[in-house]
Amino acid sequence: MRDIIIAGNWKMNKDLDAVRAFCKAIAGGLKGKVLGRVLPIIAPTYPFLALMQREFAGSPFRVAAQDTSSHPDGAFTGEVSATMLASLGLQYCIVGHSERRAYHHESNETIREKVLAVMDSGMKPILCIGETLEQRDGGITDQVILEQLDGCMRGVRVYTGKELILAYEPVWAIGTGRNATGEQAQEVHRQIRKWLADQYNKELADNLSILYGGSVKPQNLTELLAMPDIDGGLIGGASLDPESFLKMVDIAINYK
Ligand code: PEP
Repeated sequence: MRDIIIAGNWKMNKDLDAVRAFCKAIAGGLKGKVLGRVLPIIAPTYPFLALMQREFAGSPFRVAAQDTSSHPDGAFTGEVSATMLASLGLQYCIVGHSERRAYHHESNETIREKVLAVMDSGMKPILCIGETLEQRDGGITDQVILEQLDGCMRGVRVYTGKELILAYEPVWAIGTGRNATGEQAQEVHRQIRKWLADQYNKELADNLSILYGGSVKPQNLTELLAMPDIDGGLIGGASLDPESFLKMVDIAINYK
């Protein structure tokens, strides 16, 4: 049975007051909800991780980091290690987001090192992969996805499929308001699951949650969740508003 994950990536948004207001709204909104297989996660910026972790202690709501260093510790000014994040009690960390790849020139090899650092710390990586518009138009989406999987997952030991989450995020759909259709996303998710079955085994592939990300909102989530290989969303803009986030949690609860 796969988890259905509604994961919000706040990127560089919200100050302390806004984070507190969101926590209050979400705590109220989640009260009494039977989540079943649905796992709500929010990834705020570093300064608010401990606060959110405290706010939601003992609840099924999870807090994630947006990134981590690949180094364990030392002279890396501005960086935060996976073991530091894990010491807060965090269980998830996004790795390889397209904004990190584009603006911080992160290669598949760097991302692989981060995946390993996150797993070594005991957290689960939410590993992002996805093609640019140029690559899709050039007909090389499959090739890019497989290269990213090979590059970021080389030597990564996964046994049950519960140690890691994958997120397919076509770059052309992130923050653009233009989401992939259910069919377009499903086709890539199917390929990813096949790659997992080939590289590891079918049982593991069937257990591992693969999220879609790219302009997900309450209005298109149902279409995406209807696809057999889509197990939730990694959501930027539409996760900032507590009402919209809770609506997506509700859609997931009622849908799968
Ligand atoms: C993201 O930040 O990963 C993302 C998919 O953003 P948005 O939902 O705003 O497109």
